[in-house]
Amino acid sequence: MGIGKEMTTENWGRICDGLQSEVGQDAYKNWIQPLTFLGVEAGVARFNAPTSFIGNWVSRNYSDNICALFASEGENVERLAFSTGGQMPKKPVKATPKATVVATGSPELPGAPLESRFNFDNFVVGKPNELAHAAARRVAEGGPVTFNPLFLYGGVGLGKTHLMHAIAWEAKQRNPDARILYLSAEQFMYRFVQALRFKDTMSFKELFRSVDLLMVDDVQFIAGKNSTQEEFFHTFNALVDQNKQIVISADRAPGEIDGIEERIQSRLQSGLVVDLHPTDYELRLGILESKAEAQARHYPEVVIAEGVLPFLAHRISTNVRVLEGALTRLFAFASLVGREVTLDVTKECLADVLRASDRKVTIDEIIRKVADHYHLRMADILSPRRVRSIARPRQIAMFLAKRLTSKSLPEIGKQFGGRDHTTVIHAVKKIEELRAVDSQISEDVELLRRMLEA
Ligand code: ADP
Ligand code: MG
Repeated sequence: MGIGKEMTTENWGRICDGLQSEVGQDAYKNWIQPLTFLGVEAGVARFNAPTSFIGNWVSRNYSDNICALFASEGENVERLAFSTGGQMPKKPVKATPKATVVATGSPELPGAPLESRFNFDNFVVGKPNELAHAAARRVAEGGPVTFNPLFLYGGVGLGKTHLMHAIAWEAKQRNPDARILYLSAEQFMYRFVQALRFKDTMSFKELFRSVDLLMVDDVQFIAGKNSTQEEFFHTFNALVDQNKQIVISADRAPGEIDGIEERIQSRLQSGLVVDLHPTDYELRLGILESKAEAQARHYPEVVIAEGVLPFLAHRISTNVRVLEGALTRLFAFASLVGREVTLDVTKECLADVLRASDRKVTIDEIIRKVADHYHLRMADILSPRRVRSIARPRQIAMFLAKRLTSKSLPEIGKQFGGRDHTTVIHAVKKIEELRAVDSQISEDVELLRRMLEA
């Protein structure tokens, strides 16, 4: 297969599209975009890279993705080869302007660009994110630094980046002179490595230590990257010593990030650690309503039938990004075909999205996992027995059923051996209270939630 087939820039373009969705925007911009594709010869894909570091990095981290994508274009690629210099990309600095700035030691603070719609006004607050939102507001207000760092964590698409941008916007507005730096951990590393490369770590240090508010997104990325961690740690300490606010985000709690040194973990935990819980139905509906309102400004002709948004809030529970994408597609579709968006139109237009999010946690699975975790039988959970060693796991299972499924309280009660919905309410309240004061319970719940959502 693929013998004699010319790999064109068009093929490479499609591979790039694939890579972009596989590795994410940041990684794509930093590592893939700077490459120039030269061609494939005898199983070797050749590229020109602006620096050998970038070449090595791509080779080490993205070889598998790239080879697989070549295969999907019908080309067998076994290895990547990188040259540097010689044939330079047309715009070699395009994807690396930040590194260039560090290298020249500019006093500017060029962070990652802030998304204008990621502001507090557009952030819908509900139970799952109210604490994170309140903490973010507090930080944005400025004032005396009360918790440092603010550590926000939670699964993909739950609003971490949105909140960080919102903090930046708000803080800027309140204090236009404040030096605010927002960037992903990957960009932090990239700049650090560039500074090393250009033997200019002094301006790197100066730059990072002169900010008033530093926000580093997706810090799990520096796990296992030792020298970056070290530098991050020093930057972190220097800023804390100066009483400068730091905001960090990650996809997991500080203690759960493998490959981060313990002293750094404990430093990360020393402020306020808040998690963004998976969205619940009410929050999803609120978000949909707010986004539909925004969309309606672009597509005033589109009419959304009653019941469509609740339907989507029920059916798409994965993450907010997916929810948003679904709505955007729906509006575009409706505007093109000039039809009212009924439930049927919705199902037709979003068939793939709806199918993909069909994988839902069931109450059965929850009961089974919780029983396993506490070395009980499922029958114990369903039984009327009230000893603490059974009652507590049962309450946890009910709590998880409420949080992770879209079942109503009476339905949940019914599946738990025919209990009343007030028993479920009580269980949910109880576990909410206990989670705040009992770290064992809070860890158990967290662990179970992750297992169930995996
Ligand atoms: P994360 O960084 O946690 O992966 P993002 O902040 O990128 O998630 O959020 C993903 C998308 O969902 C963004 O478009 C964001 O605006 C939207 N989003 C997430 N939570 C909310 C919310 N509570 N209100 C409004 N939009 C939200
Ligand atoms: Mg993010």
